[in-house]
Amino acid sequence: MIEFSAKNRTRMLGAMAEEELDLLIIGGGITGAGIAWDASLRGMKTGLLEMRDFSWGTSSRSTKLIHGGLRYLKNGEVKLVMEVGRERALLHKHAPHIVIPAPMLLPIYKGGSLGYLESAIGLYIYDLLAGVKRSERRQMMNKEKTSALEPLLRKEDLKGSGYYYEYRTDDARLTIEILKTAHANGALIANYVSASDFLYHRDGQVAGVKAIDHLTGETVDIYAKKIVNATGPWVDQTRKQDNSLQGKRLLLTKGVHLVVDEQKLPVQQAVYFDVPDGRMIFVIPRGNKTYIGTTDTVYAGAIEDPRTTAADRDYLIRAVNAVFPEVHLTPDDIESSWAGLRPLIREENKGPSEISRKDEIIVSSSGLITIAGGKLTGFRKMAEKVTDLVSKQLQSEDGRAFRPCGTDRQGISGGDYSGYATYEDCKQSLLREGIKQGLGEQQAGYLISQYGTNSSKIFRYFTSLSSEAPDAENRALIAELAYCIEHEMTTSLADFLIRRTGRIYFQRAEAERILEPSLSIMARELQWSEPETMRQKQAMLKELAKVTQFPESND
Ligand code: FAD
Repeated sequence: MIEFSAKNRTRMLGAMAEEELDLLIIGGGITGAGIAWDASLRGMKTGLLEMRDFSWGTSSRSTKLIHGGLRYLKNGEVKLVMEVGRERALLHKHAPHIVIPAPMLLPIYKGGSLGYLESAIGLYIYDLLAGVKRSERRQMMNKEKTSALEPLLRKEDLKGSGYYYEYRTDDARLTIEILKTAHANGALIANYVSASDFLYHRDGQVAGVKAIDHLTGETVDIYAKKIVNATGPWVDQTRKQDNSLQGKRLLLTKGVHLVVDEQKLPVQQAVYFDVPDGRMIFVIPRGNKTYIGTTDTVYAGAIEDPRTTAADRDYLIRAVNAVFPEVHLTPDDIESSWAGLRPLIREENKGPSEISRKDEIIVSSSGLITIAGGKLTGFRKMAEKVTDLVSKQLQSEDGRAFRPCGTDRQGISGGDYSGYATYEDCKQSLLREGIKQGLGEQQAGYLISQYGTNSSKIFRYFTSLSSEAPDAENRALIAELAYCIEHEMTTSLADFLIRRTGRIYFQRAEAERILEPSLSIMARELQWSEPETMRQKQAMLKELAKVTQFPESND
């Protein structure tokens, strides 16, 4: 097997080009990753191409929640609530290191869009439909209890609250863990490779793609029996490349998030509140930061570069200050931000927040299979539907039968705690192991929270480097980077500081502090030339500047 290392990208691509694949997936967000996982587990020869870094599109810019589907209930989408409730439980079971229960408070105000009784009944039905476990079922709180739980909330007109659970995740890390699981099942995967043009059989059926490797400039032809377009916000562009952009279209809506220090907005748990325009906003504590999101506005700018505008920023600041009147948030408090695009399926006469988040499969006359819409939360089920279709088509065309979907039973990379009664026991054992190897408790704890059970590999790197790097702090960084390069195809400094670790969002000062040491470690490991090292540094500095720049418009 070719290791999932940045040093093996070219070999991985070469292997994809060597013989016809059963399935080629275009797009390395959570949707493509989920399909690669499912297809590889069924025994299909699977390849995946991502034009930038994995999760670079929407899958690193979400609210980072595995929802139970409460908002679907509001829209009467009962089946969806049941489905996402099950998905959430499965993901927590198989990836407990990155899908973590988080208590959430839903304050109810006189004159707000939510009534007390309505919320009590809604959350009760939601618990039943989503199969919420007993310990996490909703509790209704009166005004006093609500204020005690969240003293910062506006008390005027407060009627009470609902206290329930959502699950928080790290979207980019979830995507990479799924890709690593797919790779362990045999999938061939490469980042920084675009599918630029489609190749066709004489009968007009799609046969493969021309793939451009953006790091070497080389182009290769990759052939596959089936091709899936999982390009999220680029789905229509990819259909256009196939001359099959007909019927249903995407509607892109932008959502932004702001990050502030926890001292500025020290909420005791996540809060989900409504604002006068009827939308709902999250305030979510994470480490020693709090993040706020999101907006939902129709977007027509460049797909590559959605930005948090000054108007987006001010909208969220106003919303927070209205509900947390003692906080007085100002633009100067913003430490970081991100903006993402929801690839929704257009529905006439509906506003952005009313459009269903349902997914849909579109098969073009060329045979290209497109998966559009959906959510991070439902990715496994979406993948199952797409892979069922691919499996059916392959069986009817060449008689080969593949195994049924097994992703509801397979552990996800970093989350396999077999041998322990609970993941908590496993974590404690890992912590002891890390400390024994010489890491500080905080360092070991950080690595476990990021990499789950794979952190033991980083501990081993750490030990093996003891003579080379005597300073423990620097050695921990070298070990973390070595793991990310060798096992997560981390190819650029931005891959590391943005998507593998989220430091640019939630540990900005730390990202700035380790920028230079990370750069020199990566330059040595990946043999960057002096100009390439400078380019990497400049690119990262630009990203760091961007998260606190708020242009007047998206142009
Ligand atoms: P993407 O992640 O965009 O992946 C598509 C990939 O295709 C991109 O990385 C792109 O680079 C690549 N690509 C495009 N063209 C090509 C090509 N020609 N060749 C190779 N690669 C190509 N969902 C939840 O469940 N919970 C949430 O809390 C949540 N919050 C959200 C908040 C916001 C603001 C937004 C915008 C979305 C949110 N979502 C949430 C929805 C969820 O994030 C998306 O549904 C999901 O990430 C979409 O994943 P995807 O893989 O389809 O698209």
